[in-house]
Amino acid sequence: MTNPLSDRINSLPVSQTLAMAAKARELRAEGKDIIGLSLGEPDFNTPDFIKDAAIEAINQNYNSYTPVDGYAELKEAICTKFKRDNDLVYTPNQIVVSTGAKQSIANIAQVLLNPGDEVILPTPYWVSYSAITTLCEATYVEIPSSIDTDFKITPAQLEAAITPKTKMIFFNSPNNPSGTIYSEAEYRALAAVLEKHPQIYILSDEIYEHINYDAKPFSFAAIESMYDRTITVNGLAKAFAMTGWRIGYIGAPQWIAKACNKMQGQITSGANCIAQRAAITAVLAPVNKIQYMVDEFKTRRNIVIGLLKEIDGFKVNVPEGAFYVFPDISDFFGKTIDGVKIENASDFSLFLLEKANVATVTGDAFGSPNCIRLSYAASELQIREAIKRIKEALN
Ligand code: GLU
Repeated sequence: MTNPLSDRINSLPVSQTLAMAAKARELRAEGKDIIGLSLGEPDFNTPDFIKDAAIEAINQNYNSYTPVDGYAELKEAICTKFKRDNDLVYTPNQIVVSTGAKQSIANIAQVLLNPGDEVILPTPYWVSYSAITTLCEATYVEIPSSIDTDFKITPAQLEAAITPKTKMIFFNSPNNPSGTIYSEAEYRALAAVLEKHPQIYILSDEIYEHINYDAKPFSFAAIESMYDRTITVNGLAKAFAMTGWRIGYIGAPQWIAKACNKMQGQITSGANCIAQRAAITAVLAPVNKIQYMVDEFKTRRNIVIGLLKEIDGFKVNVPEGAFYVFPDISDFFGKTIDGVKIENASDFSLFLLEKANVATVTGDAFGSPNCIRLSYAASELQIREAIKRIKEALN
């Protein structure tokens, strides 16, 4: 590579979720009828009671810089939410509000990781975990899982992945892309391993917390022995259909929160002031106010699962949360369909885009090369049409 850009950016992979969404947009602009099942973005409008709070904030002239770590009222509201939903006691000096959960995660990685540190990523993992780790010049160690274990790792696998260089592990339940939810007992079994390795910090990404269908997810920091070394990440994008508002937050040990505040103070300052005012209303709202979206996602999940199971070669499990399905499609590897040789999941995802006009994301992006991700944050009509097209293209 001979451009004058830094090695840092040259070695950074493009976010494949965003790249696929951009590709679908581009093809649509060319007149192609693409159904986008690539981006994890609720297709609902932000609820009116949240929009009203934002309009009121504008009319009240909220237009100045906010404290770097967020408005005091918002941090108080987040503490109330953590107690109410997660049985976690945080004080406002343990909270940092950021421009989306993605920035929260990047802050944490920047303040905790040194070059050469190792980060454990149970697969499948969200695309940006690995890229953010790489940006910090740390390395990531994957723990494989498969659809046969509902994409869960075992304590023995965790133990085997730990080295003296391990500094962090990322947990994400409900999981993007698999929809898997770890039970309290499963999390406690993993915590028992981590108890033996006090140098490891845990990032628990709980952004899909409210999008669960059968059981309420458990917060890792609620395990007493883990509280002092866990950073709980959450945000408003998914549960409140507020992806573009860009509000994420952490609850963390105070020294980590302080470091994130310092980092953010040099890079972005506080998150958008209007979105923060609206966020106070959103996080304090009773959870049943967003239940209609969760119910709709559940209906769609059942439809997607039912339809995908009818396609030969698709191995499907039942995701318990988030709004993704992550079928294993490795049966197609080595086959030639409609003149196209499928060697891997990327070929398969590209095949679906070109022959079925359906955008998905390859499992390679998530460390699971046998799978592809389909987001069912799309209308029922689109979902049915997309799977019909996939079936036809494969026939
Ligand atoms: N988190 C969503 C996804 O996985 C949005 C895109 C992104 O930031 O990666 O599709």
